[in-house]
Amino acid sequence: MKNQIVLQGICYDDKSSFMKGPALAPPLIRKAYRSDSANYFSESGLELKPELFEDKGDYTIAEYFEIESLTLKCIEQKRPLISLGGDHSITYPILKAFYKIYGQIDVVHIDAHADLYHEFEGDRYSHACPFARIMEDKIASRLVQIGIRTLNTHQKNQAEKFGVEMLEMKNFEINRLPKYDHPIYLSLDMDCLDPAFAPGVSHHEPGGLTTRQLLHILQKINVPIIGADIVEYNPNRDLNGMTAMVAAKVVKEIAAQMLVNS
Ligand code: MN
Ligand code: MN
Repeated sequence: MKNQIVLQGICYDDKSSFMKGPALAPPLIRKAYRSDSANYFSESGLELKPELFEDKGDYTIAEYFEIESLTLKCIEQKRPLISLGGDHSITYPILKAFYKIYGQIDVVHIDAHADLYHEFEGDRYSHACPFARIMEDKIASRLVQIGIRTLNTHQKNQAEKFGVEMLEMKNFEINRLPKYDHPIYLSLDMDCLDPAFAPGVSHHEPGGLTTRQLLHILQKINVPIIGADIVEYNPNRDLNGMTAMVAAKVVKEIAAQMLVNS
C-alpha cells in the first residue's frame, strides 16, 4: 500500500483575480487530513494513512510554468498524483505535464465556473482561463464540466467552440451523472460546493453542490483516476477550518477511488 499515490502542494495564487489566499492552502489541507477529529478511513472502507502517499511537500512557485516541470517529475513513473492548490491556474501547467506522459486524456472538471475565458483582465493564464488553454492545446480528448452556475455569453460560446460537455447546476440530477469510458484526470474547484458547505473560497457562488452530492459524484467514478487537483481553498475566508476539513475528506475519497479503480 505504501507510496502508491504521489502528493504535491502548489502554493501559488498569483493568477487569482478577485482575492489572494489559495497559496496558503496546501499545509492547512494536510493539517486537516491529519486532524485527530477524524480517522483515515474512506467511506468505502479503505484506510488511507498519510504514509500511503509519497508526499513531495509544498512548492513555492516563482514562475508559472515551473508547475509543469515539478509535476513532470512526480508522474514519470505513472503513479497517480494528487495536487493541492493553489488557485485554478495551476491545472493548465499540471495537465501539460500529464500530456507529455499520457497523451490526450479525458478531463472531469467540477466547479461553479467554467474557467473558459479567452483572457481575463489581460492575462491568458488567469485562474479564469485554464480550460481554454487546455482545449486549445488539445490536451483533453474530452472535457466534462459539472456544477457550473455562472455561465455568461462569452463562456457559453467558448464551451460550444471547444465541444465541452457541461452539466450545469440548474439541471443537476444526482442520478444522471456522466459515463466515463477511459481513465480520467479530475480537477476539483472547492467553489463547486455551495458556500453553505464550503465558505473558505474566494468566489462565493450560491446554489452549489452539497458535500454529499460531491462525494456521490466522486464515489460513482468507475474508471482509473490518473491525477487530480483540489484547488481554490482560501483559508482567509474559512470559518473554523470547516472548508479545510471538506477538502481533506475530498482528498481521502479521491485517493480511495484511485486505489480501487487502478
Ligand atoms: Mn475554477
Ligand atoms: Mn470556481
